[in-house]
Amino acid sequence: MNRIIPFILIFACLPKLPFPQWLTDFTGLKEWPGLDPPYIPLDFIDFSKVVDIPLHQQAQCTDPILRSSKSCSFDCFNCVEFDDVYTCPQLSQTFDDGPSPWTIKLLKNLQVKKTRTTLFTLGVNIIRYPEIYQESHARGHIMGSHTWSHKFLPSLTNEQVVAQIEWSIWAMNATAGHLPKWFRPPFGGIDNRIRSILRQFGMQAVLWDFDTFDWKMLDLANNRNEADVFSDVTRFHARNKGKGLMLEHDAIERTVDLGIKLHNNVMKEQLTVPQCVGGIDYIKTFR
Ligand SMILES: [Zn+2]
Repeated sequence: MNRIIPFILIFACLPKLPFPQWLTDFTGLKEWPGLDPPYIPLDFIDFSKVVDIPLHQQAQCTDPILRSSKSCSFDCFNCVEFDDVYTCPQLSQTFDDGPSPWTIKLLKNLQVKKTRTTLFTLGVNIIRYPEIYQESHARGHIMGSHTWSHKFLPSLTNEQVVAQIEWSIWAMNATAGHLPKWFRPPFGGIDNRIRSILRQFGMQAVLWDFDTFDWKMLDLANNRNEADVFSDVTRFHARNKGKGLMLEHDAIERTVDLGIKLHNNVMKEQLTVPQCVGGIDYIKTFR
């Protein structure tokens, strides 16, 4: 899985979401951080319980330990652990990198068939589009975390990984009053070091068994278009007997339009991630 080209749309715009007083009280800060959020210590995070695995950059998979079960790297070798979600009894879509102005277009279409989906959101986009996050949540979709700013986690220090997770949770909590259960690592970048941190938040990783590579349509050099994705999905749907979990993106109109077409033609009936595994929607809700 050598996905080197990052699919990401992070806007350098002023956040719309006010910085809450409870977060000032806790962090001592007065505004949302930039793309490298500061590490704020949490009393329930114990670094002595973090699995010791060397850091690696994306697609740098030559270290033998990455091939071992001790590491269980998904980005290098598609390795999954007992608590990873990576498939579903009914082929279902998931969407990463929002919220974006195109998210609502997607959700309005899903609404026609009363389909609920799972959205893995970025903190930096939540604070820019809090009203879109709130509307997505109000429509009954499951809101998961996709980190604060889409970093490749296995390349970060333990403190930086905690910062990416904690700030994404705070953005979600400040916007809709909940703590997420489900976490999608950017670029599928996860190994047992990252999992051992994620579990201390009570969260679980959600991976996939079918990557649409929808982002490849955005670069002509990839020579991939809607028809290619559509036929790949149709083939997978038949081969996998209608089961599976798909990776898509809702940060760009073109991938949203494709997601709508796939929903309307291939998988009208689908499940949210917690429905796939019989899990809870959120760790905690406050409103
Ligand atoms: Zn992403």
